[in-house]
Amino acid sequence: MNVAFLGLGTMGAPMAANVARHGHTLAVWNRSPARAQPLVEAGARVAATPADAAGGADAVILMLADPIAVHAVVDGPYGLLEGLAPNALVIDMSTVDVDTARVTDAKVRARGGRFVDAPVSGTRKPAVEGKLVIMAAGDPADVARARPLLETMGRVVPVGAVGQGMATKLVLNGLGAHMMTGFSAMLVLAAKLGLDLRAMLDVIGGGAFSSPLYTAKGPRMIARDFEPDFTLKLMHKDQELVLATAASLGYEMPTLAAIRDVLAQAIAAGYGDGDLSGVVRLFEDWAKQKISEG
Ligand code: NAP
Repeated sequence: MNVAFLGLGTMGAPMAANVARHGHTLAVWNRSPARAQPLVEAGARVAATPADAAGGADAVILMLADPIAVHAVVDGPYGLLEGLAPNALVIDMSTVDVDTARVTDAKVRARGGRFVDAPVSGTRKPAVEGKLVIMAAGDPADVARARPLLETMGRVVPVGAVGQGMATKLVLNGLGAHMMTGFSAMLVLAAKLGLDLRAMLDVIGGGAFSSPLYTAKGPRMIARDFEPDFTLKLMHKDQELVLATAASLGYEMPTLAAIRDVLAQAIAAGYGDGDLSGVVRLFEDWAKQKISEG
């Protein structure tokens, strides 16, 4: 296939490299052009604009930060719609909201294209290894058409009609936000109590509250490694989307609203560009107790 890949951040760059590795012809575009250069080594053509990248593509993949970015890249100046080939497939793998997916679907169909929303679970390492879990949603024929391409990046789980991929992802990341803020809050309490944190992690990992998230992140947090796999500010963006989505359904979520506010305070404290797990530093600031030195 001729594939255009728009958005080459932490996730997009390795995902695009996997598309190229499986023999597809790749055109790439990124708002900051320097991030596109490494893809040239993978055989990609660097396009000047989203429209340029989309020209002649059978499929156009988006991996962008948020709804503002998706709207800009789809139908802003030189947006992908300007270059979209008839019957081309647009696949949005970014985490955005259900409305953004539906609006993009309508815009793409009005230009004679087809649309699938396919956000991902898994962070930088599974993106590099092609082991993401991909929540694919849309017309079944479109999902089937997207599947071989998506399988270069991970395992496809069909989840329903257009928008249901984003809905599934928002539920997932609402859960993830509860888990990481709860974990951080309790690690700091454990430190306050003078507990051995490695023994604490061992106990957590051995019981019903264990999670691969805690197993992967706990030792790195104690080592004070907050290099971003998934930035805290993107998780805050996701909670705004979850809360707006829930509110539109008449569902108030006070626990999640508090977590959103915690993440906002962590951003204000300067932790937004680090990994989500760096939220522990805000709890440390409040407790005047670090979980480890360094
Ligand atoms: P990232 O490294 O911050 O990359 C974001 C991308 O969006 C960059 O290419 C950035 O361009 C582009 N962008 C931002 N605003 C833009 C705008 N207004 N117009 C055009 N392009 C814009 O983020 P990421 O970690 O790769 O995440 C990408 C998406 O996947 C997000 O929706 C995120 O929530 C989701 N996600 C992330 C993970 C993870 O573990 N990291 C896991 C699952 C899902 P520049 O390079 O010019 O800034």
